[in-house]
Amino acid sequence: MKKVTRKSLLYKTGVEYGDYTINHVLGCSHGCMFPCYAFNMAKRFGNVKSYQEWIEPKIVSNALELLDKEIPKYRKSIKSVQLSFTTDPFMVGYPEVSDLSIKIINRLNKDGIKAITLTKGIIPEEVLNTSRYNEFGITLVSLDESFRKKYEPGTAPYADRIESLRRAHDAGFKTWVSIEPYPTPNIVKQNLSELLILIPFVDYIVFGKWNYNKIISEYKDRNKYYNECADLVISYCKANNIKCHIKDGTITNNI
Ligand code: SF4
Repeated sequence: MKKVTRKSLLYKTGVEYGDYTINHVLGCSHGCMFPCYAFNMAKRFGNVKSYQEWIEPKIVSNALELLDKEIPKYRKSIKSVQLSFTTDPFMVGYPEVSDLSIKIINRLNKDGIKAITLTKGIIPEEVLNTSRYNEFGITLVSLDESFRKKYEPGTAPYADRIESLRRAHDAGFKTWVSIEPYPTPNIVKQNLSELLILIPFVDYIVFGKWNYNKIISEYKDRNKYYNECADLVISYCKANNIKCHIKDGTITNNI
């Protein structure tokens, strides 16, 4: 696997439900076509030249050394560290990425810092030996495998993701699901209830609309649609005692 080095690794996110984050890989073999915000940013700032280069990820070879330097500096202000915002910690087909992610989680835990992961891959069994205060999440916006192959071509099948999340829950970890970016019916026809019903065991759900794509603006009833979807998620969470976060801008009065 190709490598890069970085000057820093740990930084505070500006994201509404995040604290600190670590992005220990440049690029992501999952190659999402939503499109991927991280890819667009990497291209804009000249870190990658093309989609092809993006889906051939490079691991940050000095990640653990950087953490040894940075953790003491930020320790007092860190509540949790999310892996990751601009890559995937359990990237399909790249065991080196998962290995480094687990080493990073263990390094954070050594200082009592909670890691929160989010993946479109499989949560590996080895990570279930880490501290029980870590939290594991998957992204799940559909159950339709033809949608996945078109929009998230390098990711793990949905059923496998859910199964690995269930395993983490059964092992005693807090688990969560990010239902974002949720597609409108002109992208894929599906029933949100059928997805929700598969994840009653999770501790929290984040729901958000699909952004950054012309196809969304072509769906005239999108605001009404997202209001209805958000209502459904809120009711489901209430009924199942699940914490719920609806992303800013998903619910609107403009219908
Ligand atoms: S999994 Fe995340 S980082 Fe990777 S391509 Fe998809 S959206 Fe981008």
